[in-house]
Amino acid sequence: MTAVPKQHRAAQVKQKDGKLEIVTVDTPTPGPNEVLIKVTASGVCGSDHMAVSGLMPGVPYPMTPGHEVVGKIVSLGKNVDRNLWNDGTKVGIGWNGGTCQHCANCRQGDPTGCQNSKVTGILKDGGHQEYVVADETALVRLPDKPNMTDAELAPLLCAGNTVHEALLVSDAKPGDLVIVQGLGGLGHLALQYARAMGFEVVALTGTPGKADLAKKLGAHHVFAASEDDIAAEVKKLGGAKAAIATAPSGKAAQELIPLLSRYGTLVVVGAPFDGKPIEVSIMDLLGRRTVRGMTCGHAPENEKTAKWSSLSGIKAMVNTFPLDKAHDAYEETQTGKPQFRNVIVFD
Ligand SMILES: [Zn+2]
Ligand SMILES: [Zn+2]
Repeated sequence: MTAVPKQHRAAQVKQKDGKLEIVTVDTPTPGPNEVLIKVTASGVCGSDHMAVSGLMPGVPYPMTPGHEVVGKIVSLGKNVDRNLWNDGTKVGIGWNGGTCQHCANCRQGDPTGCQNSKVTGILKDGGHQEYVVADETALVRLPDKPNMTDAELAPLLCAGNTVHEALLVSDAKPGDLVIVQGLGGLGHLALQYARAMGFEVVALTGTPGKADLAKKLGAHHVFAASEDDIAAEVKKLGGAKAAIATAPSGKAAQELIPLLSRYGTLVVVGAPFDGKPIEVSIMDLLGRRTVRGMTCGHAPENEKTAKWSSLSGIKAMVNTFPLDKAHDAYEETQTGKPQFRNVIVFD
């Protein structure tokens, strides 16, 4: 087995509304159904805010955030299936920190809704540290040679999987018109997946000047709210079978509903922290339209996203930070500064 140090460095928030501080912690021994992972990359997601601010009830401080984790197994508990996992297996961990397999949701085939799951990096320690323990059921098998760096791979484990799942549940088929609203961390991945899935892709941006980038990422059409009559343009194209709202704003999401064709679906994925609702016109719904939300899936779903991304050349655009700068990386995501994804990388 790989040698494991007794202690390691972690970016930890000590209490509600705290700051990410670099501390030295004891490296835990994995329990019978757990593994210890040496982290190589840990994506910084806007939802790290739920751990740092205490927005999610029950955060057991001190807490190490990070739910887009890539690394290698260095130690295994005695019950872990050696046919699946071993010393050196390349793995990831996403939002879902594991499934109990016996609660009502697990038994009804919805492990993502596991009532006993602990969210990685919010209700149990996550990846903004050199070593992290993970439940066997939370492990995402990652391609050994994914055709991207671990930093480019990490954001696929929350942001990437979320928008991939959103497109899958939209019921849009190849050739259908699909709108991706926003060109940030979620949107830049959604454009790539939408193109690879065979849709006619519309990118909606808040500001002009992003057309070249949006087209490079897969958009066939790019409209900017400030200079195009978006409703008229989308109508000319026949209306959208699906719209993926990535901006964390109820108002921005509701503006997409009239752009949908009959049987069109709006899928919201960006979590608004302002608590403002979406207002939906009943007349729009009577056009047989659907409004629904999507979150990150559980480990096997994440595995498919990672594998498909690797096969299709889809990867995140990232800025990397050393662990020492974890708080800066986090702060930037809260102020909307990074255009794409910030990722903490390790040696
Ligand atoms: Zn996330
Ligand atoms: Zn369960």
